[in-house]
Amino acid sequence: MHTIYLDHAATTALDARVLDAMIPYLTTEYGNASSIYTLGRHAMQAIDGAREEVAEILGCRPTEVTFTGCGSESDNLAIKGIAFASQKKGNHLVTSPIEHHAVLHTCQYLERFGFKTTYVPVDSYGRLDPDDIGRALTDQTALVSIMYANNEVGTIEPVAEIGRICRARKIPFHVDAVQAGGSLPIDVAELNADLLSLSAHKFYGPKGVGILYARQGVRLLPQVQGGSQERGKRAGTENVAGIVGAATALRLAYEDLPRVMPRVSALRDRLIAGVLSIAGSQLTGHPTERLPNNASFVFEGVEGESILLSLDLLGVAASTGSACTSGSVDPSHVLLAMHLPVELAHGSLRLTLGKDNTDEDVDTILAALPGIIEKLRQLR
Ligand code: PLP
Repeated sequence: MHTIYLDHAATTALDARVLDAMIPYLTTEYGNASSIYTLGRHAMQAIDGAREEVAEILGCRPTEVTFTGCGSESDNLAIKGIAFASQKKGNHLVTSPIEHHAVLHTCQYLERFGFKTTYVPVDSYGRLDPDDIGRALTDQTALVSIMYANNEVGTIEPVAEIGRICRARKIPFHVDAVQAGGSLPIDVAELNADLLSLSAHKFYGPKGVGILYARQGVRLLPQVQGGSQERGKRAGTENVAGIVGAATALRLAYEDLPRVMPRVSALRDRLIAGVLSIAGSQLTGHPTERLPNNASFVFEGVEGESILLSLDLLGVAASTGSACTSGSVDPSHVLLAMHLPVELAHGSLRLTLGKDNTDEDVDTILAALPGIIEKLRQLR
């Protein structure tokens, strides 16, 4: 059965052009980048080239780019790295309740070491008011960490404005751009970001490669101890093929953006309009300030997981956005922070499009979903 993949927020397929760029470093060019002979130097040259490629897209210096093992590690390095480096100056962190767990659980971890976190609330669209961030800042604030776009509901946050407020107070600002990377402009100067996290598998690159931009002068305490790779910011033999793949994928995503995104957002808009014609459905996230590929909903009187299973039988891969913990399905922390009633939050469905989805894919969903919802409601 042909799979209709509508879970690009979870991960994406590796682009064939990215695989081509990676293959030499998985086969003949297998040297360790720390070795001084030719094979090792080739590996180091490949990493240097990848770093320059990423820096060009982010509008920063190559020395400000660190490769990590995933988006979660980039978030951890940014938050713990800053927090532990500046603990003597201040022990206060500012974030939002709709962040990814890579950020939320890192802040909770730091609370065990004496840090205090302010979670600035969002509105019913999941959007922050930059002035609320400004009001949360104190003389003790060591870091503000806010996502560029939400992974569940797709809402885009006013990060440039938040960054401007932080910069005026000389407080480092970290942007979790893991969902936005490959879809929205990511010039770090325009975003007023001091730190920015990306993850290659979200933009048709390999899994297991993260990127962290850290502005020169921002002091980060490394979180992986060992060798002096990545200019001492992250020990461990470099994943050369992965790094080359991440940089190639990022470049291709931004080269393709003007062609791909208008098409993807048109599919999204058709999907949203069609799904909202189902009685008892509601769009989640901001109506306009949302990722071009994200269509997310809640349905009255239905469990999101049941919708997923019904769609899976048709070969459709989708998500609810809620986390499955120890057998019980908790409603999403994002939807609850947006003040959705718990009952409704249980009926969530997230459809995230990608560059290879077609009009026929949208037709299939729009033909199947009303019947699925109706049947599930009758079963309750
Ligand atoms: N931050 C956001 C907003 C995400 O959506 C994700 C992954 O879904 C991550 C961080 C973690 O990225 P990774 O899966 O590469 O660890």
